[in-house]
Amino acid sequence: MSEFLIKNADTILTMDDARQVLHGADVLIRGGQIAAIGQGLQTSGEVVSGQGCVVTPGLVNTHHHLYQNLTRAVPGAQDALLFGWLQRLYPVWARFTPQEMFVSAQLGLAELALSGCTLSSDHLYLYPNGARLEDTIHAAREVGLRFHPTRGAMSIGESAGGLPPDSLVEEEHAILDDMIRVVDAFHDASEGSMCRVGLAPCSPFSVSRGLMRDAALLARDKGVMLHTHLAENEEDIAYSLANFGCRPGQYAEELGWTGDDVWHAHCVKLDLQEIDLFARTRTGVAHCPCSNCRLGSGIAPVRAMRDAGVPVGLGVDGSASNDMASLSAEARQAMLLQRVANGADAMSAYEALEIATCGGADVLGRPDCGRLAPGKRADIAIWDTRGVASSGSWDTAALLLAGPTQVKHLFVEGRQIIRSGELTTIDLPRLIERHGQLAQQLMQ
Ligand SMILES: [Zn+2]
Repeated sequence: MSEFLIKNADTILTMDDARQVLHGADVLIRGGQIAAIGQGLQTSGEVVSGQGCVVTPGLVNTHHHLYQNLTRAVPGAQDALLFGWLQRLYPVWARFTPQEMFVSAQLGLAELALSGCTLSSDHLYLYPNGARLEDTIHAAREVGLRFHPTRGAMSIGESAGGLPPDSLVEEEHAILDDMIRVVDAFHDASEGSMCRVGLAPCSPFSVSRGLMRDAALLARDKGVMLHTHLAENEEDIAYSLANFGCRPGQYAEELGWTGDDVWHAHCVKLDLQEIDLFARTRTGVAHCPCSNCRLGSGIAPVRAMRDAGVPVGLGVDGSASNDMASLSAEARQAMLLQRVANGADAMSAYEALEIATCGGADVLGRPDCGRLAPGKRADIAIWDTRGVASSGSWDTAALLLAGPTQVKHLFVEGRQIIRSGELTTIDLPRLIERHGQLAQQLMQ
């Protein structure tokens, strides 16, 4: 069993139940778990110096569309609102194959890892030209991140009054069959699991009421989680009122889409009643501040959600709407955006880091992740605070107020996947070259 000792860290932000902050302490990693935290620990394994470093739990990404890494900064989609943005990109995504899915997932996961992420979900809701959910699962295995892929879906095409072109939607019985297939093949419910599959119809405006309800019934039957987009902007609310005669929160509740096994992306436009509903039912929210800014969707009421007791995690969202997939930058943006809405004391750097770590882990149903304590999974980010970005900082709050934005070392399930700023699991320069070639082909 492999063993590492992170020795003499300047600061350890544990995010444990007591929210302990330790100085000059060590973290002992044995196998996939944290064996001990304290001073003067010994090891027969490898020692990793924590001097000059802040140690945090690995960050948790609760919303992404990894395939979108091949469509960053697309002209015509750069300045559009959500619905126009989607209509510009759907025809490009319709040309993807399993190769695009695999390579873009690897690139996106590598980018996340460098920004301190150890656990990421993904929402893949289109399957053109033979693409399958396992294209991304295989990518995550090679990069080494803990992965919660969700089997997304769209079933209402343009001809039926929906937004996506007919070529990108699937028959609902085929969607449900494939949901069953991927859960049976890839979902691992065990403690320390590296892969948990969720079910994720894309959004209320791209699938039917029947599929939303059936997916919820199937998820409960299989014991897996549910995910979708909800209340993203004003257009989204108007669509709900016009087509369902109610607000998104009521629609979700009627179809079984509330509970601690459900998390919704964005929720920018939840009203106070909906916030209360989510708090009572422990329904989770994936807050995606950069995407919300980029698409002009608004400022999610995260302060009100947190005060009410809604579980909130962070998501970078797809790279066609961010277009950056840095989770550390996302945490900083979450902090800044609440200050824009509610004043300078609305969210501290420490609270933003809490949302990015244990907050996200709880949203994904992973209390074994997102905190540093004996018995928890060894998902650990080590940030070197001796570089230019954090020089002159008086306090560890600088991690979000100043930087760095990339990790020095990263452990996932006790395996070191980043060493001195370099990925140990894949050839990143080669991956970037291949990814760039695929993007070039899509531009033609
Ligand atoms: Zn999204």
